[in-house]
Amino acid sequence: MNSTACPCGSGQLLTLCCGRYHAGTAPASAEALMRSRYSAYALGLVDYLVRSTLPAQQAGLDQEAIQTWSLRSTWLGLEVHEAQLIEGEPQHAYVTFTAHWRDDGGEHSHRERSAFVRNNGNWYFIDPTVETKLGRNDPCPCSSGLKFKKCCASYF
Ligand SMILES: [Zn+2]
Ligand SMILES: [Zn+2]
Repeated sequence: MNSTACPCGSGQLLTLCCGRYHAGTAPASAEALMRSRYSAYALGLVDYLVRSTLPAQQAGLDQEAIQTWSLRSTWLGLEVHEAQLIEGEPQHAYVTFTAHWRDDGGEHSHRERSAFVRNNGNWYFIDPTVETKLGRNDPCPCSSGLKFKKCCASYF
């Protein structure tokens, strides 16, 4: 695996790119996390896809479905269009990307603008399709110290 090109399309070797994050290094930006999630789909690393999702959503992920989709698809490439930081809110970011893959139904491209939040130095993907187990009075996942309802509730 040492000479494998990274599936995220960075042009770097996997071990010098997303492989570092799969092995435990925290990605320094939402874009790096997003790229490493695409690579994890390509490599079938379900555990990584789970742990890079917002902790309050992890229990709601269908790991079997993720694994099946990941393994039955051929991952053709990723384009990152924009990584958008939000003025005055360093704990939030949006990344717009298009993922390309092929499965039994043919070739697909999916463009998405995903939201990410940072907590204690770690970036997490906010999965818009999964229920978030956060009470309105729980601490906000962005680690602002505020209650969820007073802070990021509008992102969910
Ligand atoms: Zn990569
Ligand atoms: Zn917040």
